[in-house]
Amino acid sequence: MAEVSENMNGSGKPESVDFIREIINEDIKNGKHEGRVHTRFPPEPNGYLHLGHAKSICLNFGIADEYKGQCNLRFDDTNPTKEEVEYVESIQEDVKWLGFDWEDRLFFASDYFDVLYDYAEKLILMGKAFVCDLNADQMREYRGTLTEPGKESPYRNRSIEENLDLFRRMKAGEFPEGSRTLRARIDMASPNINMRDPVIYRIMFAHHHRTGDKWCIYPMYDYAHCISDAQEGITHSICTLEFEDHRPLYDWFLDVLETPHHPQQIEFAKLNVAYTIFSKRRLNELVKRGITSGWDDPAMPSLAGIRRRGYTPEAIRKFATIVGVAKRDTLSDMALLEYCIREDLNKKAQRAMAVLKPLKLIITNYPDGESEELEAVNNPEDPAMGTRKVPFGRELYIERDDFMENPVKGYFRLFPGNEVRLRWAYFVKCNDFRKDPVTGEVTEIYCTYDPESKGGNSSDGRKVKSTIHWVNAGKCISAEVRLYDRLFTVPDPADAEEGKTWIDYINPHVLDIVKDAKLEPFMAGAVPGINYQFERLGYFVADSKDSAPGSPVFNRTVTLKDSWAKLAAK
Ligand code: ATP
Ligand code: MG
Repeated sequence: MAEVSENMNGSGKPESVDFIREIINEDIKNGKHEGRVHTRFPPEPNGYLHLGHAKSICLNFGIADEYKGQCNLRFDDTNPTKEEVEYVESIQEDVKWLGFDWEDRLFFASDYFDVLYDYAEKLILMGKAFVCDLNADQMREYRGTLTEPGKESPYRNRSIEENLDLFRRMKAGEFPEGSRTLRARIDMASPNINMRDPVIYRIMFAHHHRTGDKWCIYPMYDYAHCISDAQEGITHSICTLEFEDHRPLYDWFLDVLETPHHPQQIEFAKLNVAYTIFSKRRLNELVKRGITSGWDDPAMPSLAGIRRRGYTPEAIRKFATIVGVAKRDTLSDMALLEYCIREDLNKKAQRAMAVLKPLKLIITNYPDGESEELEAVNNPEDPAMGTRKVPFGRELYIERDDFMENPVKGYFRLFPGNEVRLRWAYFVKCNDFRKDPVTGEVTEIYCTYDPESKGGNSSDGRKVKSTIHWVNAGKCISAEVRLYDRLFTVPDPADAEEGKTWIDYINPHVLDIVKDAKLEPFMAGAVPGINYQFERLGYFVADSKDSAPGSPVFNRTVTLKDSWAKLAAK
């Protein structure tokens, strides 16, 4: 697949060591961190994980595996008003589903609230932090801009004693929310705004899902994150590019506090995939507005959604490896992800015949009332999956698209006078058809079959140009099939034209429901969560929520061919 190998690293060369692994190799060579490799995945439990997070998970856990190191799962739970236990649980489920194991290293930033507090007092004692009474608006005003330096807070030169007293009283709950903060005392003239006396602690009378009401001051992310990394002996703190400008602050805290470990922060570009979005805030909005049915809606790029859609962890891990890591933001191609899914499912998925838009086909020379069982291969890619019996008979359903009254040029499927192969069955030739006199819609087609062509080959060497799928009209089952498509109609919905927002680009056909698809009878027992290939149509999965034995519901995971390439070519 030429288009895929070109995507490997953008240069057409086979994969090489990326810049993160280069740094790690160098560190090992130089004996930095005693040659250890210890990473972490640090989600904030304020939403469900999405495919972008999967990349970060694969990177952090993947690197730990490769270097025989360790990777921690750490919840960044420093913002009690936005975080929920539901998310803590779903995130763990998602990481496990992707195939990674944090063993006994499940941590929370809140595990370090005492340590963080003690370090804050240490900063005060060193004259490196002060309690500031500016409110949020004033603070913004004093901060300056990218081109202008900030102004020093009038509270910046409080004595150490006063700062310590006020900070302790903040902790004791003596001051109202928003009235005071603890700030690092760095440099209001720094060209890097993050270094302009950033806030370390704010007052919040909020119940925390783990520490309850013990605290009414909570640390800011930049302060908590580097110290949490240091506490856990993390060697390489891998994060996304928006934190690049925060790195000097990350290092400042650890240097000034002389923490026993000093991890190295390394930034890489976020994963973006065309025709979808990866922002928890926006995904949340889709759910809140009822545009999708929930976080696990198969149209969502959340891991819960794509799992229900039938994407496999193997395919996602492969995709993460192929897209690699970059220093610059790019938009990855959905076709690449779908390629990875097809590759994986092609090897694994049980085949079945399903007709989504049924048209009755009657074999006029097949004895009425008779039937037979034909043998079909379960997976041509894996002989170990064996064969199954498919009931054949006089009345079948075929796909409406597989018949044309007046065939266009290059159409080799059924039309009056043409012969095709029915998959795993016989040759049939179309002789006639019937139409609804009112609507003009074709309602039945009449064929004769060649009894000598059992199994799909003629006895006289006669060839046909097409093979079509079918089910037995009397012995098939009916099922709902949900056809999912891309979520947005444009590659980058966040880049909306004037007067529009990203939400205006939702694909109205993100879901088309086929209420009464006809399937081979054995599909009644389709196992929820298991992938099938419907021959010629695509990969489908029995829905893990709405499917039950006897009344299956299927989600389309991906079409068989690259329909994206076709769309782009139009
Ligand atoms: P979002 O912007 O979608 O709300 P976030 O960055 O706020 O995501 P966190 O819970 O803070 O979400 O992310 C946990 C980790 O996953 C972080 O290290 C973050 O950098 C990484 N991450 C988030 N989105 C992506 C992405 N699109 N590609 C790669 N890594 C990502
Ligand atoms: Mg975040």
